[in-house]
Amino acid sequence: MSDPAGDALHREVGARLTRHDQRYTRGRRRLIDLLASARRPLTMNDVLDLDDSLAQSSVYRNLAVLESGGAVHRIHSGDGHAHFELAEDLTEDHHHHLVCRDCGSVFDFETTTDFEGSVSRLLGEVQAQSGFRADAHRFDLIGTCRECG
Ligand SMILES: [Zn+2]
Ligand SMILES: [Zn+2]
Repeated sequence: MSDPAGDALHREVGARLTRHDQRYTRGRRRLIDLLASARRPLTMNDVLDLDDSLAQSSVYRNLAVLESGGAVHRIHSGDGHAHFELAEDLTEDHHHHLVCRDCGSVFDFETTTDFEGSVSRLLGEVQAQSGFRADAHRFDLIGTCRECG
């Protein structure tokens, strides 16, 4: 439990922070562990609930550092409801999000091979028309969750 994220992940996050002149401190390592084991996007309050030894101010600052270092991705879902997850290229799983405009909840939405196949065909047309070369995509569905609907 002390190191659920694994050494390879920590090495990669450490390397990214080094490239941004940031240190991979114990507090930042702890956040990566929490995000890796949560398997869902976490708000800052979720993080504080999961580990009450963490101070809000340092969690906020460390998430911002990890985000600008490219290790953490921030999902915006309305005022004060930012969710954080590991950057997708640090994980094995590709997914999309369902974002509730009313309560700010964010749910992962696992896609099928068929779904991704259709998406990449459609995005291939966009790339052909625009001359843009994409190596990844992300999109979120915005709307109303079951609880709020
Ligand atoms: Zn909702
Ligand atoms: Zn996709």
